[in-house]
Amino acid sequence: YLKLTGITKKFGGTLVLNQVDLTASKGEMITLLGPSGCGKSTLLRCISGLTDLEAGSIALDERELTSLAPREREVGMVFQSYALFPNLNVMDNIGYGLKMKGIKKEVIRGRVDELLKLVDLTDKSHAYPHELSGGQQQRVALARSLAVQPKLMLLDEPLSALDAKIRKNLRMEIRQLQQKMGMTMIFVTHDQEEALMISDRICVMNQGRIVQEGSPEQIYTAPRSEFVARFIGNYN
Ligand code: ATP
Ligand code: MG
Repeated sequence: YLKLTGITKKFGGTLVLNQVDLTASKGEMITLLGPSGCGKSTLLRCISGLTDLEAGSIALDERELTSLAPREREVGMVFQSYALFPNLNVMDNIGYGLKMKGIKKEVIRGRVDELLKLVDLTDKSHAYPHELSGGQQQRVALARSLAVQPKLMLLDEPLSALDAKIRKNLRMEIRQLQQKMGMTMIFVTHDQEEALMISDRICVMNQGRIVQEGSPEQIYTAPRSEFVARFIGNYN
């Protein structure tokens, strides 16, 4: 469904992504796990088209994305900072992308209502971003990305600005949502526990490469290198 081949990216003279290959089946939840600076965000930005690559191909649902503009890729992205429109209420934030597509008001209304239910914010539909908690803002950001029904959702440390308790709840909510919708997601984190909890498959990255991939269980019980063992916290 998603197939990345030989993704290579340099900044200046520095190789930041070194021949990354990655595939995902439809409905799969993949976590990219790795230390700061290993290239996680850059890889997501390459997929969404926010940055261009030196070499490689990105195929999504049998379409090659590399030559397409970001808006043509049908890829949604949620960042660490929520970046909601401060002057729009929750409903209008969620419906924004649909409005831009020229979709009819009544249709938008219906879709927004569904999404509000999905992220459990129906009672906040008229609130403005500054009236919401961090976790609520991030749920709005999630709903806003889901509204345009992307084929792939990229989440770049969407929970890292939140405190521990909200973070734990929200990560399970995201996982449930992802399973319910059959949405294909790539979730970036440098939190080992988070990766183990929510993924179908974990890709451990280091220095611009995927050094191991497997189910959470495989990664945890059979790390292939000392680096992975240390990183996943199963080293003694
Ligand atoms: P973190 O966990 O801290 O978010 P990351 O794995 O997401 O890290 P990236 O943001 O992908 O890391 O950065 C990978 C490398 O590329 C880093 O060394 C970073 O300094 C470099 N880099 C990222 N963006 C740029 C840029 N626009 N210009 C130059 N170098 C960049
Ligand atoms: Mg990053």
